[in-house]
Amino acid sequence: MTTTYAVLSEGLQKRYGEVHALRGLDLAVPEGTVCGVLGPNGAGKTTAVRVLTTLVSPDSGSALVAGRDVVRDPAGVRRRIAVTGQYASVDGDLTGAENLRLFARLLRAPRSRADELLERFGLTEAAGRPARTYSGGMRRRLDLAASLLVRPSVLFLDEPTTGLDPHSRGEIWDVVRGLASQGTTVLLTTQYLEEADRLADEVVLVDGGRAAHRGTPAELKALIGSYAQVVVAHASFLQEAAAVLDRLTGSAPVLDAGHRTVGAVTTDPTLTLPRIVREVDAAGIPLVDASLRPPTLDEVFLRLTGRAPRPAPAPEVAA
Ligand code: ATP
Repeated sequence: MTTTYAVLSEGLQKRYGEVHALRGLDLAVPEGTVCGVLGPNGAGKTTAVRVLTTLVSPDSGSALVAGRDVVRDPAGVRRRIAVTGQYASVDGDLTGAENLRLFARLLRAPRSRADELLERFGLTEAAGRPARTYSGGMRRRLDLAASLLVRPSVLFLDEPTTGLDPHSRGEIWDVVRGLASQGTTVLLTTQYLEEADRLADEVVLVDGGRAAHRGTPAELKALIGSYAQVVVAHASFLQEAAAVLDRLTGSAPVLDAGHRTVGAVTTDPTLTLPRIVREVDAAGIPLVDASLRPPTLDEVFLRLTGRAPRPAPAPEVAA
């Protein structure tokens, strides 16, 4: 069976003056899948999304989105995509229902579609209330509903849950999963690597304007092996514990004084948890906890890019 790609880019380049934002970006996102685009600050993620959504032209390279060329047929691309992100486009003075019906009129979508989406996103009960009274999660869901009035082939989700509390985040994740299961292709940029881990079929790690690594979350984790971590009784033991882990794993340990943890990746299949415990104990270090587990995507990111993913901002406060 041949794979049909909803997003297919080859060698995309984009410069802003001296800054080379994209240096030959290749992407291939199969239809109906969720692709998580991750990368450190300035890696080129936003530029890639801007090119793929026809907001800026690439200097060279090509990209097909929903089968249309972003340079030769930008209008065709726009008809088949939706873009939504952390900056909700809803009007706080209008009710949820009024917001969606207004967008429906603008987009020539049937009013019944607005009502259907209110229902689907669990907003029917709140539909008569001004959107400014909504929680951050509800506003984000309303915004997402607005972008789905005309069914897009490809949905670009830019940091859809930034600033949301864990419950609201979970709600948005359910919506995204539902969309993908109905055949919408989702290209997701996010700073929450757990989000990519939960949602993405494939992750592309963009660095320096290129796709530096790609694979399923499990494949990317397997690239760096296992993660050995110990929690010590007091931060003053961290350096000694780091020396033990350094010796056992052969890789540079990462210290976290606040959580009194030290961890290091290992590709040694013979390293076992009992051995780690024995060696830390033998060094006279009071141990509180120890684990040897697959790495999180955050740890993969740190290892592959040399930088920590952005720290999460404080949760949004209701307006
Ligand atoms: P972040 O995670 O910080 O949003 P990003 O991966 O989205 O970063 P881009 O916003 O695509 O990265 O930026 C890539 C590079 O291009 C950066 O060095 C940025 O400063 C530069 N850049 C982006 N847009 C412009 C612009 N309009 N004019 C000049 N330079 C730009």
